[in-house]
Amino acid sequence: MQNKIDYEAKIKSILISEEKIKKALKAEGERISREYEGKPLLLVSVLKGAFVFMADLCREITIPCEIAFMCAESYYEGTVSSGKVNITMDLKQDISEYNVIIVEDIVDTGRTLSEVVEIFRSRNPLSLSVVTLLDKPERRVVKFEPDVALFTIPDRFVIGYGLDCGEYYRNLPYIAEYNAE
Ligand code: 5GP
Repeated sequence: MQNKIDYEAKIKSILISEEKIKKALKAEGERISREYEGKPLLLVSVLKGAFVFMADLCREITIPCEIAFMCAESYYEGTVSSGKVNITMDLKQDISEYNVIIVEDIVDTGRTLSEVVEIFRSRNPLSLSVVTLLDKPERRVVKFEPDVALFTIPDRFVIGYGLDCGEYYRNLPYIAEYNAE
């Protein structure tokens, strides 16, 4: 277990405050509620990083919607995700009856999400879109654009608000830059 002094020393600086996140989520919740009113809506997130974002975003949505989670493992080539995804816990729903929004924590190289999107498309949902909390476009290696990115950030490793480093820091209420030194 990490001691508290080392733990805190790794939190370099706050990049996105709790207040900024709350404001962006409120606006996005309103947009989704307007756009999908009267339509069957399923929010899906791929565990674990997006669990906090999903929990807060869904509470800003004021129309009926269902929520589901998937578990997927990315295969890594060294430290870089290969984009090959193995689903270890799948959805129970037949998504052909839903408008699906994939709720994601961060798009980095884009490899994992472009593979996940392909898997979803092959199941013929009524519509499919991707909403991500964070986007690091400088890091992209495959052609992939989320439909909505609430914050665009530079090429930094970030923690908090669901995002981890060695499984720690997911419970920070803000997004911080990780101090690798
Ligand atoms: P990629 O887009 O490269 O296939 O992988 C995206 C995944 O890498 C994200 O879902 C997330 O788990 C992880 N990731 C990418 N950038 C960061 C980051 O800055 N911080 C953390 N904690 N995870 C990241």
